[in-house]
Amino acid sequence: MSQTKFLLDESKMPTHWYNIAADLPVALPAVLHPGTMQPVGPDDLAPLFPMELILQEVSTEREIPIPEPVREVFKLWRPAPLFRAHRLEKALGTPAKIYYKYEGVSPAGSHKPNTAIPQAWYNAQAGIKKLTTETGAGQWGSSLSFAGSLFDISVQVFQVRVSYDQKPYRRALMETYGATCVASPSNLTNSGRAILAKDPHHPGSLGIAISEAVEIAATHDDTKYALGSVLNHVLLHQTIVGQEAMLQMEMAGDDPDVIVGCTGGGSNFAGIAFPFLGQQLRGGKKRRIVAVEPAACPSLTRGKYAYDFGDTAHLTPLTKMHTLGSTFTPPGFHAGGLRYHGMAPLVSHLKELDLIEATAYHQNTCFEAGVLFARAEGIVPAPEANHAVRGAINEALRCKAEGKSEVILFNLCGHGHFDMTAYQAYFAGKLTDQQYDEAELAMALSGLPSVPA
Ligand SMILES: *Cc1c(COP(=O)(O)O)cnc(C)c1O
Repeated sequence: MSQTKFLLDESKMPTHWYNIAADLPVALPAVLHPGTMQPVGPDDLAPLFPMELILQEVSTEREIPIPEPVREVFKLWRPAPLFRAHRLEKALGTPAKIYYKYEGVSPAGSHKPNTAIPQAWYNAQAGIKKLTTETGAGQWGSSLSFAGSLFDISVQVFQVRVSYDQKPYRRALMETYGATCVASPSNLTNSGRAILAKDPHHPGSLGIAISEAVEIAATHDDTKYALGSVLNHVLLHQTIVGQEAMLQMEMAGDDPDVIVGCTGGGSNFAGIAFPFLGQQLRGGKKRRIVAVEPAACPSLTRGKYAYDFGDTAHLTPLTKMHTLGSTFTPPGFHAGGLRYHGMAPLVSHLKELDLIEATAYHQNTCFEAGVLFARAEGIVPAPEANHAVRGAINEALRCKAEGKSEVILFNLCGHGHFDMTAYQAYFAGKLTDQQYDEAELAMALSGLPSVPA
């Protein structure tokens, strides 16, 4: 058996983030102010984000330096390992070579601290004392709580009600890092109270939790808001993943033909894929890049590419993205981190330009893939990551059928140690695969804002 684990020396950790905006063949559509329908300027975003992050949001510089204090924190777990999945290949009997980048080695157990740390640091530099945010599965909430504790920022997390109830240990982790955690919808905000007035037992959604966190930040001077996915600067911060993977693939002497990532808001997918895609856009090798999303929340595969709000109460600007409609409440399936109605504008744009592909799978087949992976490779993937595992396994099985020895790289974006109740439900046969017909999807889409062409 050839080498299994590819470790980069700390001195090789990337010093810059890669900004794909510099290499796009067509610029990203403007972000619009919902009142004026005019493009938003940096000042419009200033109540929510510190200026450094706003400038990154609109930057077209190819390389943006990673601040030294941020790199120092990253050294707690970065560079993250890349593995060759020899045993999984054998279990599948595939001639394909499967590699995975493992982001579960971070303190919070996923890729999310890659952006939580710089976001907290830029806010601290701007004198901000408190950050509000939303969390679905609890991964983002714990990552920002960890980051806040390092830079003396208090963190208030609005956790989607179903996950608050289903995942007490994620909440305990956030509290361990010193954050406070509120079930959303809550009675602390106008947006939360409006939802509770209609349905006191509302299960919550990421869209609602975002409204609550944005409302608090917009109405307090010393408070800003942090988002764990979707935005350009968040995707930017994740590109450290793909840049490391690129160096590690070189160490392995292989070059990926197919790159796979799961997509909730699109950040871990962008993280692994964008540096490789950037090479292609600058004239390098063409690779297949595959986004895998849950069939129960299929924004990229069945959503509409249109201007929409990022939240349910319509407090955010309008961005052009693949959306299921901001009022869409996905069912309480077990990959909580993938339950968002929209997709990152950058990922949506690349899909429209046919530079990436998208597929959707139901949760049972993803858990089946995750269990197969765990039994071969030892790591128990997060339910979200199981979508990437399923995508990679299906590519490997295609290679087997076609007799091809392609090189597959996927992002194993987090471990599932806090998600074992989901695995128990899978073993007990209690996971249902949610189907939508077109009429159901059309209903949430009928409320899209109308934007003059
Ligand atoms: C949050 C999360 C996701 C979904 O977010 P993306 O921005 O699409 O990456 C996926 N996997 C894990 C482990 C997460 O924590």
